[in-house]
Amino acid sequence: MKRPIITVVGSINMDLVTESETFPKPGETLLGRHFSTFPGGKGANQAVAAARLGAEVRMIGCVGDDAFGKELTDTIANEQIDTDAILVQAEKTGIASICLAEGDNQIIVVPGANHALLPEHIKAHEDLIRTSDLVLVQLEIPAQTVDAAVETAHTYGVPVIVNPAPIQALSSTIRSFATYLTPNEHEAAVLKKEHNDEELHKKCIVTQGKEGVSYPAANGQQSEIPGFSVDAIDTTGAGDTFNGALAVALGHGSPLDEACVFASAAAALAVTKKGAQTGMPHLNDVTRFLK
Ligand code: ADP
Repeated sequence: MKRPIITVVGSINMDLVTESETFPKPGETLLGRHFSTFPGGKGANQAVAAARLGAEVRMIGCVGDDAFGKELTDTIANEQIDTDAILVQAEKTGIASICLAEGDNQIIVVPGANHALLPEHIKAHEDLIRTSDLVLVQLEIPAQTVDAAVETAHTYGVPVIVNPAPIQALSSTIRSFATYLTPNEHEAAVLKKEHNDEELHKKCIVTQGKEGVSYPAANGQQSEIPGFSVDAIDTTGAGDTFNGALAVALGHGSPLDEACVFASAAAALAVTKKGAQTGMPHLNDVTRFLK
């Protein structure tokens, strides 16, 4: 079968994770137990999910001219994702500083170079969008860049999935031109409050953690697909895997209900392993799981 072509427009981050007994108080220095780095950013995560599930993926994003930028671009390229449209800017590569202690976490995200991804860059690479089966966007890049990507996809008649995370009020461009929105339950509740728009809610595929997913069925009603029962080890990246997988299935031309089953299966497999990108399944894992 032909591999679907997916363009992902989104963030690329390095996650810097420290583990300590307690959180430091203001002015205090603590000795930590462990430090690790993980490639992340919703854009990169969803691109990796889609590539592992068999799509030909192109990434439009932005990193800094620094070691993290180089490492992250290499990681993405190692997944056979086209990195030609990853811009390198003077800003530092985006990071998430994650402190784990006391069974809890504290997170600071610095978008850095992700915020230097501007609409001009979308314009410069509109051929990637034009020649795609589907475009996938999240909200960790500037709002006007998201709009440019959605508008370009619409202009060329390419379906576009907007994963509204982190949640914010949606532009009229997204509301009019997104083919589907993929909020989780929390994001869906915010959207309901922000936008009194029946048509918008009919585009929402709402992920509900282990409960599964609710999607707009052909009869205009929301239908439910129960979650797959698995031993969840780490739910980081569940939503990103779901989005990458949904893009692959819809890019193939699968009907929405089948695409949601495929995406739920991929996401269920992802939560059985530690880490966001590290836990993402390959196509044969999902095929075997669904047999
Ligand atoms: P997010 O990670 O964005 O908060 P969800 O928690 O809704 O998103 O998870 C996305 C999808 O991942 C769900 O719709 C479901 O298919 C799958 N999933 C998440 N957690 C589990 C779980 N514990 N068991 C099985 N599937 C899960």
